[in-house]
Amino acid sequence: MGDLATLTQQALDEVAASTTLAALDEVRVRWLGKKGLLTEQLKSLGALPAADRPAAGAKINVAKERVQAAIEAAEARLADAAIAAELLAGRIDVTLPGRGEPRGSIHPVTRTRLRIETIFRNSGFEVATGPEIEDDFHNFEALNIPSDHPARAMHDTFYFADGRLLRTHTSPVQIRELRKGRLPLAMIMPGRVYRCDHDMTHSPMFHQVEGLVVDENVSFANLKATLQGFLRAFFEKDLRTRLRPSYFPFTEPSAEVDMSCVFCDGAGCRVCKHTGWIEVGGCGMVHPNVFTAAGVDAERWTGYAFGMGIERLAMLRDGVNDLRLFFESDLRFLRQFGAA
Ligand SMILES: [Zn+2]
Repeated sequence: MGDLATLTQQALDEVAASTTLAALDEVRVRWLGKKGLLTEQLKSLGALPAADRPAAGAKINVAKERVQAAIEAAEARLADAAIAAELLAGRIDVTLPGRGEPRGSIHPVTRTRLRIETIFRNSGFEVATGPEIEDDFHNFEALNIPSDHPARAMHDTFYFADGRLLRTHTSPVQIRELRKGRLPLAMIMPGRVYRCDHDMTHSPMFHQVEGLVVDENVSFANLKATLQGFLRAFFEKDLRTRLRPSYFPFTEPSAEVDMSCVFCDGAGCRVCKHTGWIEVGGCGMVHPNVFTAAGVDAERWTGYAFGMGIERLAMLRDGVNDLRLFFESDLRFLRQFGAA
């Protein structure tokens, strides 16, 4: 029994040296388990005289209880330390600056469309839209482009198997609006259009904005004033416009719309090919056949229509020289336009 004190101290030292709960459990098994070193001491009692056994047994039990108590205290200490470490790891320093979220911005083409809409709305125009999948009637027939018309060759059309097509221009919206019979009207019709064409200045999908004004006694002079007013507001420049005679099946007479070059102010530069003028769209007086196809009395009503490419307006205003940049989703390009 002489070494009971030594054994006890040895057990207590091992408890104190345990730095993890797993290590502590090993210590418990080694000393207090069924075959533990202190437990084994009880078995040696049989070798003692009967009178000495109770006192010796009590001493061993006291030693076991001391070790047990030390283990429990160490367990509590290690559990507290584990929680403290966990809390420290998950600590949030609320004084640090936030990580922030990347901020998106409106696509330059959308931004341009919204700008066009605002300018026309301010002049009393409504904004109308129509389906991108059209039928032959709305996209061609009603616009005075019968199936044998050579102008169809200019429209590289995407057809569906059932004969429907992706609209090649926004003009079919004119027919849809005219057929509603609410006259007079002044509206623009922006939207996506599709042509089977792809290079530096053509994309299979691009955006147009169509304008249509129908009233009694609408004149070509009204048309020119509207276009000039719009272009000056859009480019924020006191630019000049001119109309060049042209041909479109759905207008008569028809004209190409030119404006004085926004880069050289008409002096001549690379962009305007040294002419001083830049073409920005087509226009004309609504053809009587279009009115008739849409159920509008061509004797009573007159109207003008115009069409412009939204990407083209965006390129001229923002100085973009390749149409494809708009559709490549390159953030380095898009970020230059910032939040609109
Ligand atoms: Zn120029």
